[in-house]
Amino acid sequence: MQSESVILQDDTRVVRELSEISHLRTIIKLLSIVIAIGLVYVFARIGNDTHIIYVFILAFLIATWAQHAIGEELHDGSHYRLASSRRVNEYLASLYGSLSGISLMNYRARHKLHHRYFGTALDPDFPQYKTCPMGLKAWATYLFVNFSGYGAIKSLVTFQSNLSTGKPSWQHPGFTVVMQLFLLILGILLNVPIFYFLFWFVPLLTLTYGVSHFRTMLEHWNAETWQDPTTGEICYGAFYDFDSGIQSQLFGAPFGYNHHGTHHSLPSIPNYNLDKIAHEDYREVPQNLIRKTTFFTRLSEMVSFSFKPSV
Ligand SMILES: [Zn+2]
Ligand SMILES: [Zn+2]
Repeated sequence: MQSESVILQDDTRVVRELSEISHLRTIIKLLSIVIAIGLVYVFARIGNDTHIIYVFILAFLIATWAQHAIGEELHDGSHYRLASSRRVNEYLASLYGSLSGISLMNYRARHKLHHRYFGTALDPDFPQYKTCPMGLKAWATYLFVNFSGYGAIKSLVTFQSNLSTGKPSWQHPGFTVVMQLFLLILGILLNVPIFYFLFWFVPLLTLTYGVSHFRTMLEHWNAETWQDPTTGEICYGAFYDFDSGIQSQLFGAPFGYNHHGTHHSLPSIPNYNLDKIAHEDYREVPQNLIRKTTFFTRLSEMVSFSFKPSV
């Protein structure tokens, strides 16, 4: 039987190996995103020529897939997990930020706080998972704010995005404009300029925005509070790993962040290696807070909590 120290050493080695960046994976993910954006335009063009509505729907859904994939890479870039060269990592992550209108620097600052102060009001994501909507009216409001574009537009015009630390960052506005213009011009060259708005800008502000917020809630909301072992503070939330498969593709984690709970304990591991973690010993966050479930189990838990009759 292995002694505890041997297991720990072994775990450290496993973590170190899994934390190594595969540049091939980074390139494959970049190519997947480029192909997905290309497919959006192809399907939009086919829809335009044939007037078949479901082809348009497909274009819209592929756009949201691509935007979530971009978001996931932006996230890995914020943890320096895209390339071992800092400079390449920053260029690539800035490219992803510019495609989705999010500043890498601002996102990184905010996301660090999410990791460090999880469960407390110091986490900028805290309002997204402290509670879940209770009852029909609260759900209707939640869905409207997050999925109609209202929340996204409000955050755009007031510079109070909950995708920022509160103040806007102008770290790469020029590059963001260039990338958005590039997508617009691509549509113009295909003789369909409106496509940029309908199949990039609108999905970004509606379905992509909504799903990313909903995911944060589903990944972190917890009906019970817990006490921080060091500070004694009452904290909220938990960490949920979702089984992979169709759920991860449809609900915004195409490259591995359906294992978001594991990511919180081991942020050095790139998204594509999170599913390889089998050991339980080296969790840095309270271990009983990391739970394995499925998207639909979690959804039904939340809905039954929301609609349970009050006593
Ligand atoms: Zn998180
Ligand atoms: Zn992270």
